[in-house]
Parts: sequence; C-alpha cells; structure tokens
Amino acid sequence: MASHATTQTYDVAVIGAGVFGAWTAYSLRKSGATVALFDAYGPANARASSGGESRIIRMGYGAAEVYTRWSMHALPLWKELFAQAGRSELFQQTGVLWIAHEGEPYALATLDTLAEAGTQFQKLSHTDLTRRYPQIVFDNDSWGIFEPQSGVLMARRAVQAVVAQAQKNGVAYRPDAVLSPTGEGRLGHIVTASGDNISAGSFVFACGPWLPKVFPEILGGRIFPTRQEIFFFGVPSGDSRFAPPSMPTWLQMRDEFYGMPDLESHGFKIAHDHHGPLVDPDTQSRTATPKAIAAAKEFIARRFPALKDAPIVESRVCQYENTSSGDFLIDRHPAFENVWLVAGGSGHGFKHGPSVGEYAAARVTGTTSAALPLDPRFSLATKQTIQERAVF
Ligand SMILES: Cc1cc2nc3c(=O)[nH]c(=O)nc-3n(C[C@H](O)[C@H](O)[C@H](O)COP(=O)(O)OP(=O)(O)OC[C@H]3O[C@@H](n4cnc5c(N)ncnc54)[C@H](O)[C@@H]3O)c2cc1C
Repeated sequence: MASHATTQTYDVAVIGAGVFGAWTAYSLRKSGATVALFDAYGPANARASSGGESRIIRMGYGAAEVYTRWSMHALPLWKELFAQAGRSELFQQTGVLWIAHEGEPYALATLDTLAEAGTQFQKLSHTDLTRRYPQIVFDNDSWGIFEPQSGVLMARRAVQAVVAQAQKNGVAYRPDAVLSPTGEGRLGHIVTASGDNISAGSFVFACGPWLPKVFPEILGGRIFPTRQEIFFFGVPSGDSRFAPPSMPTWLQMRDEFYGMPDLESHGFKIAHDHHGPLVDPDTQSRTATPKAIAAAKEFIARRFPALKDAPIVESRVCQYENTSSGDFLIDRHPAFENVWLVAGGSGHGFKHGPSVGEYAAARVTGTTSAALPLDPRFSLATKQTIQERAVF
C-alpha cells in the first residue's frame, strides 16, 4: 500500500464511537473543542456493546440514586438530539415495568429513590398486574413499579445519529483503529493502524470491552467482558398483546430476565441479565448456544404462555463490559496526564450516553457540570479485580 501517513492536530481525539465515545465527542464539540473521533469497525458496529437493536432507558436503580439522576438527565438529551436529527422514532416510549416480589430490597429501594427524585411512577399490586397484563404469568407475591415515561432507545441507529449530528457540528469522524500508546507523562500523538499520526491536547479512550486490550497493564483484570445472548421471538400474526401499548418493556427480577415488546415488527425481545463467561470482543462466537436458546424458551413458555411455540426470529450475541461493581469508569489514565478512560457500561450504560458524554467532557476540559457533580464512584481507584456486582 502506498504510504499516506499524515499528521493532524485537534484539541481532543476520542477513540471509540460506541455510545460513550459518540456522546463524549458530541459534548466536547459543543463546548467549543476541535474533535476527531475514531472507530476501528464503525459507530455501533456489530461487535460493539452498543451495536444492538434496542436498549432500555429506565430511571429505577435501587438505592443507587446517582444513576436515577443521570438517567433523568439523559432522556431529554436523547430526545433533543433525535428531534434535531428528525429521528424521533429512535426513542419509543413503551413504559417500563419492574416485576418485583415481596420484600425485594432492590425494588423497595427503587420506590424510595424514584419518589425522592420526583420522577413519575406507579406502584402496582398483584391484582393491578394481572388485570393490566393478562398475557404475563405473575407469581402470587409479585408487585410492580411502572415508569410511564421510560422506554427503549433504538441503540445502533441512535449511536449513528449521535455521530452524524456530531459530524454536522464539526467533529471529524475517522474509520481507523488506534494503536495502544506507550510511555508516560504527556501524550503528544497517537498512531492509527493505517499509519496516520494524530496530535491532540487530550485523548479519550472510550473503547468499551476493548479497553483492557488497549491498556492491559492497568485494566487487564479490571474490566470483565462477558458473553450475553439475546433472542427475538416472532409474535403470532395479528396478535397485538405483545406490542405497545398492551406490552411495556419489562424487567423480571426473580428470574433475572428482561425484555421489550415487539417494536417495528422485529419480534418480542428477551435476554438473561446474568453474566455469561468472559470473552474477547474480537474473537467470541456470535452464534447462539443451545443452552441459552433452551433457557430463553423455558422462560417464555413459563411467563408468556401464548408465545410458547413462537419461533426465534433473530438471535444476537454481545458482551457486557463490567467493572467490579458495575460503576462506570470515567477517569484520567494514571500514567498519562492528558489521557482519559471512559468505559465500564456494565450492561446498563447505554441509556446514560448523554450524561457520560457531558461528565467526561467536563473532566477533559477541567470544568464541572452543575447537573452531574464529580463522583468518586467513577474513579479508577474504585475498580477492583474481583467482581461484586452492586449496580443493576
Ligand atoms: C446484550 C446487551 C444488552 C444491554 N442492555 C442495555 C439496556 O437495556 N440499557 C442500557 O442502558 N444498557 C444496556 N447495555 C449496556 C450498553 O449497551 C453498554 O454499556 C454500552 O453500549 C457500552 O458502550 P461503549 O461505548 O462503552 O462500548 P462499545 O459500544 O463497545 O464501543 C466501543 C467502540 O470502541 C471501538 N474501538 C475499540 N478499540 C479501538 C481502537 N483501538 N481504535 C479505534 N476504535 C476502537 C470499537 O470498535 C467500538 O465501536 C447492554 C449491553 C449488552 C451487550
């Protein structure tokens, strides 16, 4: 290949155009910075954690009130961006139903936090649940929390819309892989796989599940990419019980399953939230396993009996990029004064994209966001090598 190495200079280079990197680039540009955004495989590509069809946005987070606030902050920003892009269909206000059980501490704490935060919700009794949703089988000790304003972000297309808007505002998007930087102190430039040198004042590595491969010495063993399998079941022709408004998005805490109604005729989506085996995002098999298929079918038949013979019309294999607790990582690299690490979405990060971007941009530019004050739970120091999931 002919050499075409070039050197270009920006205020900030953002590496990774998943939901975290896309919103970070967008926010930095909004603050006036010149920004380049890189991705090895493309925004919300099929290997990326952001590359799925859809992601839940909900406000309930147990006692972890910072995530309730971040999600409440994020939803209007998502809607605003979609409105600017003329793509309001990328948020679907399906409502989100938490299916809880008697004495469940997480759900009880969620009630308190939602009330304290002043977001809309309804507490539903077992009778309310069975009356409203006769197509779902509830245990006798079930009760519910319904968030009417929450719903689903159409994930892959949403990230692509953020990148398109960022480009419209002047962000330079470059489809290229960035090589791991070496050294310490002040990083002057990065080198891409195609041989370009990119100089910048600051660098943000938002590489999701790849981040431990980019910085193995500090993040190897501190970010745990786990295999997650997702299934879409084809609903019977003409049956509207599994589409909005009859069916909300739901989370079933006892069985650790969650799902979404049939959106855009794509099928009724379900996924097991339990962490799967550790995987490498470049090489893991993207084919569903017989074990996960059987578990999904068993769950469907038990909780949604009208779908017991429904065919799987699509399956996807993705990965969570978990930190030890489930708290995000948004912090400075310990060896480079001008390199920032933004990752650790831990299976719940997508909805927070606008808040992560705003928080990260404030850190990079040395300011603070009034709405999202500095929080030590996002520091590298809190990220351990043993997983004890505390955020769901
Ligand atoms: C199955 C599943 C279901 C989920 N459900 C929800 C949900 O319902 N609600 C919710 O809020 N969250 C959910 N999440 C979590 C959420 O999707 C992730 O936390 C989020 O997408 C992570 O985004 P990211 O930008 O950090 O990573 P990614 O989307 O993986 O982006 C990282 C990007 O970096 C690029 N990259 C890596 N290395 C390099 C390099 N060296 N050079 C250039 N580019 C590079 C990659 O190509 C990739 O595009 C779910 C995740 C999964 C997998």
